[in-house]
Amino acid sequence: MDFKGQVALVTGAGRGIGQAIAESLATLGVNIAVVDLSADDAGAVAEGLVRMGVRAIPVTADVSNADSVKDMFSTVVKEFGGMDILVNNAGITRDALLLRMKEEDWDSVIDVNLKSVFLCSKEAVKIMSKRRYGRVVNIASVVAFMGNPGQANYSASKAGIVGLTKTIAKEYAGRGITANAVAPGFIMTAMTEKLPDNVKDEMKKAIPMGKLGTVQDVANAVVFLSSPDAGYITGQVVHVNGGMYM
Ligand code: NAP
Repeated sequence: MDFKGQVALVTGAGRGIGQAIAESLATLGVNIAVVDLSADDAGAVAEGLVRMGVRAIPVTADVSNADSVKDMFSTVVKEFGGMDILVNNAGITRDALLLRMKEEDWDSVIDVNLKSVFLCSKEAVKIMSKRRYGRVVNIASVVAFMGNPGQANYSASKAGIVGLTKTIAKEYAGRGITANAVAPGFIMTAMTEKLPDNVKDEMKKAIPMGKLGTVQDVANAVVFLSSPDAGYITGQVVHVNGGMYM
């Protein structure tokens, strides 16, 4: 895959799956804007990427806030002159059963997980349309397709991402921009590591491959969809879940 010094903006890249995506793209020579709520995390990841030999900047931003997103894009354009790849990865959970779910937990998950994809894609597509090239990759989840008790807000936000992805794909296919989603299953991250062993064992029983995925498993799919080689793939969801949903 030849990325020829392209630029990627990866949200929520301060840790977990986003960090793995940023590092995997950097390995292939992509310059990266490392976006995170935490300045320390974004700074540490960006420093690591610079040591790998690419240009990388930390950008502290709240991707659910329109003004913050606008500032973030002007910073990136000022630094890199534009961007080729947008990875909408930032996400949160605020789990509770439907009857106990607070309105603010519904709103914050929809805002961070779904509204952010609308806000960031809108800014990115403006830049990509002028260049007649772009890759938008959105991180959904297996629960968008299966539902999950305790995750009404989260599963709705991720299902929303799928519809939004397909619409961006249809609206901008003629401008050389593809939009795809990656739907991870259960992945080993800080979020899943702290679960009790019996819960992890139950999760593994639901996965034909009998193991949780790694952040690299997700990053590999994102890198391919971000590449020039994936130019005829748009509006698709790539499932990375060890077979738990097919
Ligand atoms: P994570 O470790 O919690 O990382 C999420 C990152 O997003 C954090 O660095 C966080 O920053 C950042 N973030 C949160 N809210 C933000 C905001 N408003 N603006 C900017 N950045 C923000 O999560 P992960 O497990 O790597 O998950 C990454 C993506 O994959 C998420 O969309 C998640 O829903 C999806 N996913 C994960 C799994 C899994 O099993 N882990 C499965 C399916 C889908 P702070 O650290 O500063 O809060």
